[in-house]
Amino acid sequence: MSRLVLRGGMILTLDDAGTYFERGTVVIEDDRIAWLGPADLEPPAGGAEVIDATDKIIMPGLVDLHFHTALGKGYNDHLPLWEYLDECWYPMIRALDFDAAYWAAMASYAEAIKAGVTTVNDMYRRLDALAVAAEEIGIRAVLSNDVALDEHDLDTLQDNVDAFHRSNGAANGRIKVWMGIEWLPLASPEMLRDTRALADELGIGIHIHLNESMSEVENSIERFGKRPTELAYEVGMLGPDVVAAHCVHLSDDEIRMMAETGTNISHNPSSNAKLGNGIARVPEMLAAGINVGLGHDAVECNNSGDMFEVMKFASLMHRAKREDASLMPADFVLRMATRHGAQALGTGSGMLAPGEKADIILVETNSVEFTPLLRDTPVHMTSHLVFAANGSAVDTTIIDGRVVMRGRTLTAVDESRIVHEANIAFRRTIERMEIVRRPH
Ligand SMILES: [Zn+2]
Repeated sequence: MSRLVLRGGMILTLDDAGTYFERGTVVIEDDRIAWLGPADLEPPAGGAEVIDATDKIIMPGLVDLHFHTALGKGYNDHLPLWEYLDECWYPMIRALDFDAAYWAAMASYAEAIKAGVTTVNDMYRRLDALAVAAEEIGIRAVLSNDVALDEHDLDTLQDNVDAFHRSNGAANGRIKVWMGIEWLPLASPEMLRDTRALADELGIGIHIHLNESMSEVENSIERFGKRPTELAYEVGMLGPDVVAAHCVHLSDDEIRMMAETGTNISHNPSSNAKLGNGIARVPEMLAAGINVGLGHDAVECNNSGDMFEVMKFASLMHRAKREDASLMPADFVLRMATRHGAQALGTGSGMLAPGEKADIILVETNSVEFTPLLRDTPVHMTSHLVFAANGSAVDTTIIDGRVVMRGRTLTAVDESRIVHEANIAFRRTIERMEIVRRPH
Protein backbone atom coordinates (compact mmCIF):
# COMPACT_ATOMS: atom_id res chain seq x y z
CA MET A 1 0.00 0.00 0.00
CA SER A 2 1.30 3.47 -0.86
CA ARG A 3 0.78 6.33 1.56
CA LEU A 4 0.94 10.04 0.82
CA VAL A 5 0.47 12.82 3.40
CA LEU A 6 -0.42 16.42 2.47
CA ARG A 7 0.47 18.43 5.56
CA GLY A 8 -0.29 21.92 6.79
CA GLY A 9 -2.51 23.28 4.01
CA MET A 10 -5.86 25.08 4.02
CA ILE A 11 -8.34 22.30 3.29
CA LEU A 12 -11.37 23.23 1.22
CA THR A 13 -13.38 20.00 1.24
CA LEU A 14 -16.42 21.26 -0.73
CA ASP A 15 -18.50 18.69 1.17
CA ASP A 16 -22.19 19.29 1.95
CA ALA A 17 -21.40 21.05 5.22
CA GLY A 18 -18.67 23.20 3.65
CA THR A 19 -16.08 21.78 6.07
CA TYR A 20 -12.88 23.82 6.13
CA PHE A 21 -9.60 23.43 8.03
CA GLU A 22 -7.31 26.43 8.28
CA ARG A 23 -4.28 24.21 8.87
CA GLY A 24 -5.02 20.61 7.99
CA THR A 25 -3.66 17.30 6.78
CA VAL A 26 -4.92 14.84 4.18
CA VAL A 27 -3.76 11.22 4.26
CA ILE A 28 -4.02 9.27 1.02
CA GLU A 29 -3.73 5.48 0.88
CA ASP A 30 -3.36 4.08 -2.63
CA ASP A 31 -6.03 5.76 -4.77
CA ARG A 32 -8.30 7.04 -1.94
CA ILE A 33 -8.46 9.57 0.85
CA ALA A 34 -7.98 7.69 4.13
CA TRP A 35 -8.14 10.58 6.63
CA LEU A 36 -8.39 14.34 6.78
CA GLY A 37 -8.57 16.81 9.65
CA PRO A 38 -6.68 19.45 11.62
CA ALA A 39 -2.90 19.06 11.32
CA ASP A 40 -2.48 18.79 15.11
CA LEU A 41 -4.63 15.61 15.12
CA GLU A 42 -2.72 14.04 12.24
CA PRO A 43 -2.18 10.27 12.53
CA PRO A 44 1.43 8.98 12.56
CA ALA A 45 2.96 9.30 9.09
CA GLY A 46 4.86 6.01 9.30
CA GLY A 47 6.84 5.53 6.11
CA ALA A 48 4.58 7.79 4.08
CA GLU A 49 5.78 10.33 1.54
CA VAL A 50 5.01 13.79 2.97
CA ILE A 51 4.24 16.89 0.91
CA ASP A 52 4.49 20.21 2.74
CA ALA A 53 1.29 22.09 1.85
CA THR A 54 2.03 25.24 3.87
CA ASP A 55 0.44 28.31 2.21
CA LYS A 56 -1.44 26.06 -0.22
CA ILE A 57 -5.13 25.36 -0.64
CA ILE A 58 -5.84 21.63 -0.69
CA MET A 59 -9.01 21.11 -2.71
CA PRO A 60 -10.71 18.65 -5.09
CA GLY A 61 -9.34 18.53 -8.63
CA LEU A 62 -11.41 20.17 -11.35
CA VAL A 63 -13.62 18.13 -13.68
CA ASP A 64 -13.74 19.35 -17.28
CA LEU A 65 -17.17 18.03 -18.21
CA HIS A 66 -17.00 18.87 -21.90
CA PHE A 67 -13.58 18.39 -23.42
CA HIS A 68 -12.15 17.55 -26.80
CA THR A 69 -8.55 16.59 -27.30
CA ALA A 70 -7.48 19.18 -29.83
CA LEU A 71 -4.68 20.06 -32.17
CA GLY A 72 -5.75 23.30 -33.86
CA LYS A 73 -5.56 26.01 -31.18
CA GLY A 74 -5.56 29.45 -32.81
CA TYR A 75 -6.02 27.93 -36.28
CA ASN A 76 -9.25 29.75 -36.99
CA ASP A 77 -10.67 32.27 -34.58
CA HIS A 78 -13.43 34.01 -36.51
CA LEU A 79 -15.90 31.53 -37.99
CA PRO A 80 -19.35 30.74 -36.57
CA LEU A 81 -19.81 27.18 -35.31
CA TRP A 82 -21.20 25.43 -38.37
CA GLU A 83 -18.72 26.93 -40.85
CA TYR A 84 -15.89 26.32 -38.40
CA LEU A 85 -16.85 22.64 -38.13
CA ASP A 86 -17.06 22.18 -41.90
CA GLU A 87 -13.94 24.10 -42.80
CA CYS A 88 -11.67 23.31 -39.88
CA TRP A 89 -12.69 20.73 -37.29
CA TYR A 90 -14.03 17.91 -39.47
CA PRO A 91 -11.26 18.08 -42.10
CA MET A 92 -8.70 18.08 -39.31
CA ILE A 93 -10.09 15.10 -37.42
CA ARG A 94 -10.56 13.19 -40.69
CA ALA A 95 -6.85 13.72 -41.38
CA LEU A 96 -5.79 12.55 -37.92
CA ASP A 97 -3.47 9.54 -37.68
CA PHE A 98 -2.72 7.56 -34.50
CA ASP A 99 0.43 9.50 -33.70
CA ALA A 100 -1.23 12.89 -34.20
CA ALA A 101 -4.12 11.85 -31.93
CA TYR A 102 -1.65 10.63 -29.30
CA TRP A 103 0.41 13.84 -29.25
CA ALA A 104 -2.71 16.02 -29.44
CA ALA A 105 -4.07 14.16 -26.41
CA MET A 106 -0.76 14.50 -24.58
CA ALA A 107 -0.71 18.26 -25.19
CA SER A 108 -4.38 18.64 -24.24
CA TYR A 109 -4.08 16.54 -21.08
CA ALA A 110 -0.86 18.31 -20.08
CA GLU A 111 -2.59 21.69 -20.35
CA ALA A 112 -5.48 20.35 -18.29
CA ILE A 113 -3.32 18.89 -15.51
CA LYS A 114 -1.27 22.08 -15.31
CA ALA A 115 -4.49 24.01 -14.65
CA GLY A 116 -5.68 21.62 -11.94
CA VAL A 117 -7.99 19.40 -14.01
CA THR A 118 -8.02 15.81 -12.77
CA THR A 119 -10.84 14.42 -14.98
CA VAL A 120 -11.68 15.10 -18.61
CA ASN A 121 -14.85 14.05 -20.44
CA ASP A 122 -13.14 13.77 -23.82
CA MET A 123 -15.03 13.31 -27.09
CA TYR A 124 -12.61 12.76 -29.98
CA ARG A 125 -11.40 10.14 -32.46
CA ARG A 126 -8.80 7.33 -32.31
CA LEU A 127 -9.60 6.42 -28.72
CA ASP A 128 -6.81 3.83 -28.61
CA ALA A 129 -4.28 6.65 -28.90
CA LEU A 130 -6.13 8.75 -26.31
CA ALA A 131 -6.23 5.86 -23.84
CA VAL A 132 -2.47 5.33 -24.13
CA ALA A 133 -1.86 9.06 -23.58
CA ALA A 134 -4.22 9.20 -20.56
CA GLU A 135 -2.63 6.13 -19.03
CA GLU A 136 0.90 7.50 -19.44
CA ILE A 137 0.30 11.07 -18.27
CA GLY A 138 -1.91 9.94 -15.38
CA ILE A 139 -5.18 11.81 -15.99
CA ARG A 140 -8.66 10.39 -15.32
CA ALA A 141 -10.55 10.29 -18.62
CA VAL A 142 -13.99 9.39 -19.91
CA LEU A 143 -13.45 8.89 -23.64
CA SER A 144 -16.12 8.86 -26.34
CA ASN A 145 -16.07 8.78 -30.13
CA ASP A 146 -17.27 11.44 -32.54
CA VAL A 147 -20.10 9.34 -34.03
CA ALA A 148 -22.02 10.63 -37.05
CA LEU A 149 -24.01 9.21 -39.97
CA ASP A 150 -21.81 7.29 -42.43
CA GLU A 151 -21.85 9.94 -45.17
CA HIS A 152 -19.94 12.33 -42.90
CA ASP A 153 -16.90 10.04 -42.71
CA LEU A 154 -16.35 10.38 -38.97
CA ASP A 155 -16.79 7.58 -36.39
CA THR A 156 -19.46 4.86 -36.32
CA LEU A 157 -21.31 3.34 -33.39
CA GLN A 158 -19.27 0.18 -34.01
CA ASP A 159 -16.02 2.19 -33.66
CA ASN A 160 -17.28 3.35 -30.27
CA VAL A 161 -18.25 -0.18 -29.16
CA ASP A 162 -14.84 -1.50 -30.28
CA ALA A 163 -13.12 1.26 -28.28
CA PHE A 164 -15.18 0.26 -25.24
CA HIS A 165 -14.01 -3.34 -25.45
CA ARG A 166 -10.39 -2.31 -25.87
CA SER A 167 -10.00 0.47 -23.31
CA ASN A 168 -12.87 0.66 -20.80
CA GLY A 169 -11.57 0.15 -17.26
CA ALA A 170 -7.90 0.55 -18.22
CA ALA A 171 -5.34 2.08 -15.83
CA ASN A 172 -6.93 0.91 -12.57
CA GLY A 173 -10.35 2.06 -13.83
CA ARG A 174 -9.09 5.59 -14.51
CA ILE A 175 -10.12 5.30 -18.15
CA LYS A 176 -13.74 4.76 -19.08
CA VAL A 177 -15.35 4.68 -22.51
CA TRP A 178 -18.80 6.15 -23.15
CA MET A 179 -20.88 6.50 -26.30
CA GLY A 180 -20.38 9.86 -28.05
CA ILE A 181 -22.64 11.56 -30.60
CA GLU A 182 -21.32 14.58 -32.50
CA TRP A 183 -24.58 16.50 -32.85
CA LEU A 184 -28.03 16.22 -34.39
CA PRO A 185 -27.24 17.81 -37.77
CA LEU A 186 -25.02 14.73 -38.38
CA ALA A 187 -27.36 12.19 -36.72
CA SER A 188 -30.80 10.59 -37.11
CA PRO A 189 -33.53 9.45 -34.70
CA GLU A 190 -32.52 5.82 -35.38
CA MET A 191 -28.93 6.59 -34.44
CA LEU A 192 -30.03 8.13 -31.13
CA ARG A 193 -32.17 5.06 -30.37
CA ASP A 194 -29.30 2.71 -31.22
CA THR A 195 -26.95 4.76 -29.05
CA ARG A 196 -29.26 4.45 -26.07
CA ALA A 197 -29.62 0.69 -26.63
CA LEU A 198 -25.84 0.21 -26.79
CA ALA A 199 -25.25 2.39 -23.72
CA ASP A 200 -27.77 0.30 -21.78
CA GLU A 201 -26.27 -2.95 -23.01
CA LEU A 202 -22.72 -1.92 -22.07
CA GLY A 203 -23.75 -0.12 -18.86
CA ILE A 204 -22.12 3.17 -19.88
CA GLY A 205 -23.13 6.79 -20.41
CA ILE A 206 -23.63 9.05 -23.43
CA HIS A 207 -21.85 12.31 -24.30
CA ILE A 208 -23.59 14.54 -26.87
CA HIS A 209 -23.74 18.14 -28.05
CA LEU A 210 -27.31 19.50 -27.79
CA ASN A 211 -28.86 22.90 -28.63
CA GLU A 212 -25.47 24.54 -29.04
CA SER A 213 -26.36 27.08 -31.73
CA MET A 214 -29.50 28.52 -33.29
CA SER A 215 -28.35 27.03 -36.61
CA GLU A 216 -28.50 23.58 -34.98
CA VAL A 217 -31.99 24.19 -33.57
CA GLU A 218 -33.26 25.40 -36.96
CA ASN A 219 -31.72 22.42 -38.75
CA SER A 220 -33.36 20.04 -36.29
CA ILE A 221 -36.79 21.64 -36.71
CA GLU A 222 -36.39 21.49 -40.49
CA ARG A 223 -35.25 17.84 -40.62
CA PHE A 224 -37.19 16.31 -37.74
CA GLY A 225 -39.96 18.80 -36.97
CA LYS A 226 -38.57 19.03 -33.42
CA ARG A 227 -35.95 20.90 -31.46
CA PRO A 228 -32.79 18.86 -30.63
CA THR A 229 -33.63 18.10 -26.99
CA GLU A 230 -37.27 17.35 -27.90
CA LEU A 231 -36.06 14.69 -30.33
CA ALA A 232 -33.51 13.24 -27.87
CA TYR A 233 -36.29 13.07 -25.25
CA GLU A 234 -38.85 11.47 -27.55
CA VAL A 235 -36.53 8.68 -28.67
CA GLY A 236 -35.66 7.94 -25.03
CA MET A 237 -32.00 8.90 -25.22
CA LEU A 238 -31.84 11.28 -22.25
CA GLY A 239 -31.16 10.13 -18.69
CA PRO A 240 -28.92 10.52 -15.62
CA ASP A 241 -26.09 8.77 -17.52
CA VAL A 242 -26.07 11.48 -20.22
CA VAL A 243 -23.87 14.58 -20.41
CA ALA A 244 -25.46 17.08 -22.79
CA ALA A 245 -22.96 19.75 -23.77
CA HIS A 246 -23.86 23.43 -24.24
CA CYS A 247 -27.69 23.53 -24.20
CA VAL A 248 -27.52 27.24 -25.00
CA HIS A 249 -30.91 27.50 -26.68
CA LEU A 250 -33.31 25.46 -24.53
CA SER A 251 -37.04 26.15 -24.52
CA ASP A 252 -38.98 25.93 -21.24
CA ASP A 253 -40.22 22.51 -22.38
CA GLU A 254 -36.70 21.31 -23.08
CA ILE A 255 -35.52 22.45 -19.62
CA ARG A 256 -38.38 20.41 -18.17
CA MET A 257 -37.31 17.37 -20.24
CA MET A 258 -33.72 17.66 -19.02
CA ALA A 259 -34.89 17.92 -15.40
CA GLU A 260 -37.45 15.09 -15.69
CA THR A 261 -34.87 12.68 -17.13
CA GLY A 262 -32.07 13.68 -14.73
CA THR A 263 -29.82 14.56 -17.68
CA ASN A 264 -26.58 16.36 -16.76
CA ILE A 265 -25.59 19.52 -18.61
CA SER A 266 -22.09 20.81 -19.26
CA HIS A 267 -22.12 24.61 -19.37
CA ASN A 268 -19.27 25.92 -21.54
CA PRO A 269 -19.60 29.70 -21.35
CA SER A 270 -16.29 30.77 -22.89
CA SER A 271 -16.74 28.49 -25.92
CA ASN A 272 -20.31 29.74 -26.37
CA ALA A 273 -19.09 33.32 -26.20
CA LYS A 274 -16.18 32.88 -28.58
CA LEU A 275 -18.24 31.14 -31.25
CA GLY A 276 -21.01 33.71 -30.94
CA ASN A 277 -23.54 31.08 -29.86
CA GLY A 278 -25.17 32.98 -27.00
CA ILE A 279 -25.60 32.57 -23.25
CA ALA A 280 -27.19 29.44 -21.78
CA ARG A 281 -30.18 29.75 -19.42
CA VAL A 282 -28.20 28.40 -16.47
CA PRO A 283 -30.24 30.11 -13.71
CA GLU A 284 -33.39 28.44 -15.10
CA MET A 285 -31.60 25.07 -15.39
CA LEU A 286 -30.52 25.28 -11.75
CA ALA A 287 -33.98 26.36 -10.63
CA ALA A 288 -35.35 23.25 -12.38
CA GLY A 289 -32.95 21.06 -10.36
CA ILE A 290 -30.65 20.07 -13.25
CA ASN A 291 -27.07 19.04 -12.39
CA VAL A 292 -24.89 21.54 -14.29
CA GLY A 293 -21.10 21.16 -14.51
CA LEU A 294 -18.53 23.15 -16.45
CA GLY A 295 -16.35 22.50 -19.50
CA HIS A 296 -13.85 24.38 -21.64
CA ASP A 297 -14.96 22.48 -24.83
CA ALA A 298 -11.87 22.51 -27.08
CA VAL A 299 -8.92 24.83 -27.43
CA GLU A 300 -10.00 25.56 -31.01
CA CYS A 301 -13.04 27.34 -29.65
CA ASN A 302 -11.86 28.76 -26.35
CA ASN A 303 -8.63 28.96 -26.81
CA SER A 304 -7.50 28.04 -23.33
CA GLY A 305 -7.98 24.80 -21.46
CA ASP A 306 -7.83 26.70 -18.17
CA MET A 307 -10.92 25.82 -16.10
CA PHE A 308 -10.24 28.76 -13.78
CA GLU A 309 -11.10 31.01 -16.73
CA VAL A 310 -14.22 28.95 -17.38
CA MET A 311 -15.29 29.38 -13.75
CA LYS A 312 -14.96 33.14 -14.01
CA PHE A 313 -16.94 33.25 -17.25
CA ALA A 314 -19.58 30.99 -15.70
CA SER A 315 -20.21 33.56 -13.02
CA LEU A 316 -19.73 36.87 -14.84
CA MET A 317 -21.69 36.18 -18.03
CA HIS A 318 -24.93 35.57 -16.18
CA ARG A 319 -24.42 38.60 -13.91
CA ALA A 320 -23.84 40.78 -16.96
CA LYS A 321 -26.81 39.46 -18.88
CA ARG A 322 -29.29 39.64 -15.98
CA GLU A 323 -27.81 42.75 -14.36
CA ASP A 324 -27.70 40.83 -11.09
CA ALA A 325 -24.47 40.61 -9.04
CA SER A 326 -25.97 38.00 -6.72
CA LEU A 327 -25.98 35.27 -9.39
CA MET A 328 -23.52 32.38 -9.51
CA PRO A 329 -21.50 32.97 -6.30
CA ALA A 330 -17.92 31.67 -6.12
CA ASP A 331 -18.58 28.75 -3.77
CA PHE A 332 -21.33 27.43 -6.05
CA VAL A 333 -19.25 27.85 -9.22
CA LEU A 334 -16.41 25.90 -7.57
CA ARG A 335 -18.85 23.09 -6.86
CA MET A 336 -19.99 23.12 -10.49
CA ALA A 337 -16.36 22.71 -11.58
CA THR A 338 -15.73 19.83 -9.16
CA ARG A 339 -18.65 17.96 -7.56
CA HIS A 340 -21.25 18.51 -10.25
CA GLY A 341 -18.93 17.26 -12.97
CA ALA A 342 -17.82 14.29 -10.88
CA GLN A 343 -21.45 13.39 -10.16
CA ALA A 344 -22.30 13.50 -13.88
CA LEU A 345 -19.45 11.11 -14.70
CA GLY A 346 -19.71 8.90 -11.61
CA THR A 347 -16.00 9.20 -10.83
CA GLY A 348 -16.30 8.95 -7.04
CA SER A 349 -14.37 12.20 -6.69
CA GLY A 350 -15.25 15.91 -6.55
CA MET A 351 -15.01 16.56 -2.81
CA LEU A 352 -12.54 15.75 -0.07
CA ALA A 353 -13.75 13.11 2.41
CA PRO A 354 -12.51 9.72 3.63
CA GLY A 355 -13.29 7.05 1.04
CA GLU A 356 -13.36 9.46 -1.90
CA LYS A 357 -10.99 9.00 -4.82
CA ALA A 358 -7.79 10.99 -4.23
CA ASP A 359 -8.11 13.52 -7.08
CA ILE A 360 -6.66 16.57 -5.35
CA ILE A 361 -4.90 19.81 -6.25
CA LEU A 362 -2.66 22.11 -4.22
CA VAL A 363 -3.06 25.78 -5.09
CA GLU A 364 -0.30 28.23 -4.18
CA THR A 365 -1.52 31.28 -2.24
CA ASN A 366 1.86 32.85 -1.52
CA SER A 367 1.38 35.25 -4.43
CA VAL A 368 -0.09 38.66 -5.20
CA GLU A 369 -3.06 36.99 -6.90
CA PHE A 370 -4.12 35.61 -3.52
CA THR A 371 -3.33 38.78 -1.55
CA PRO A 372 -4.90 39.76 0.76
CA LEU A 373 -6.04 36.41 2.14
CA LEU A 374 -8.00 35.84 5.35
CA ARG A 375 -7.27 32.25 6.28
CA ASP A 376 -9.82 31.77 9.02
CA THR A 377 -12.70 31.54 6.58
CA PRO A 378 -13.03 29.82 3.17
CA VAL A 379 -15.10 32.70 1.77
CA HIS A 380 -12.08 34.80 0.85
CA MET A 381 -10.23 31.98 -0.86
CA THR A 382 -13.20 30.73 -2.90
CA SER A 383 -13.53 34.29 -4.18
CA HIS A 384 -9.85 34.40 -5.18
CA LEU A 385 -10.05 30.95 -6.80
CA VAL A 386 -12.96 31.92 -9.05
CA PHE A 387 -12.44 35.63 -9.66
CA ALA A 388 -8.72 36.36 -9.19
CA ALA A 389 -6.63 33.29 -9.99
CA ASN A 390 -5.87 31.31 -13.10
CA GLY A 391 -4.60 27.77 -13.59
CA SER A 392 -0.97 28.74 -13.16
CA ALA A 393 -1.66 29.01 -9.42
CA VAL A 394 -1.94 25.21 -9.27
CA ASP A 395 1.29 23.83 -7.81
CA THR A 396 0.57 20.11 -7.48
CA THR A 397 -1.97 17.79 -9.14
CA ILE A 398 -2.75 14.37 -7.66
CA ILE A 399 -4.92 11.88 -9.57
CA ASP A 400 -5.96 8.47 -8.27
CA GLY A 401 -3.51 8.97 -5.40
CA ARG A 402 -0.57 9.58 -7.71
CA VAL A 403 1.32 12.91 -8.02
CA VAL A 404 1.15 13.75 -11.74
CA MET A 405 2.43 17.34 -11.37
CA ARG A 406 4.72 18.62 -8.63
CA GLY A 407 5.94 22.23 -8.43
CA ARG A 408 4.36 22.76 -11.88
CA THR A 409 6.44 19.97 -13.45
CA LEU A 410 4.68 16.95 -14.95
CA THR A 411 6.11 13.86 -13.27
CA ALA A 412 5.38 11.05 -15.75
CA VAL A 413 6.10 12.68 -19.09
CA ASP A 414 8.53 15.15 -20.66
CA GLU A 415 6.61 18.36 -21.36
CA SER A 416 9.17 19.75 -23.80
CA ARG A 417 8.92 16.57 -25.89
CA ILE A 418 5.11 16.91 -25.93
CA VAL A 419 5.43 20.48 -27.20
CA HIS A 420 7.89 19.41 -29.92
CA GLU A 421 5.89 16.39 -31.10
CA ALA A 422 2.49 18.14 -30.99
CA ASN A 423 3.86 20.87 -33.26
CA ILE A 424 5.08 18.25 -35.74
CA ALA A 425 1.72 16.44 -35.55
CA PHE A 426 -0.16 19.68 -36.21
CA ARG A 427 1.95 20.45 -39.29
CA ARG A 428 1.49 16.93 -40.67
CA THR A 429 -2.25 16.97 -40.04
CA ILE A 430 -2.95 20.28 -41.74
CA GLU A 431 -0.94 19.09 -44.74
CA ARG A 432 -3.26 16.09 -44.98
CA MET A 433 -6.46 18.09 -44.68
CA GLU A 434 -8.54 17.79 -47.84
CA ILE A 435 -10.06 21.23 -47.78
CA VAL A 436 -8.11 24.42 -48.18
CA ARG A 437 -9.18 26.76 -45.48
CA ARG A 438 -9.94 30.39 -46.07
CA PRO A 439 -7.12 32.66 -44.86
CA HIS A 440 -7.34 34.34 -41.44
ZN1 LIG B 1 -17.81 20.27 -27.98
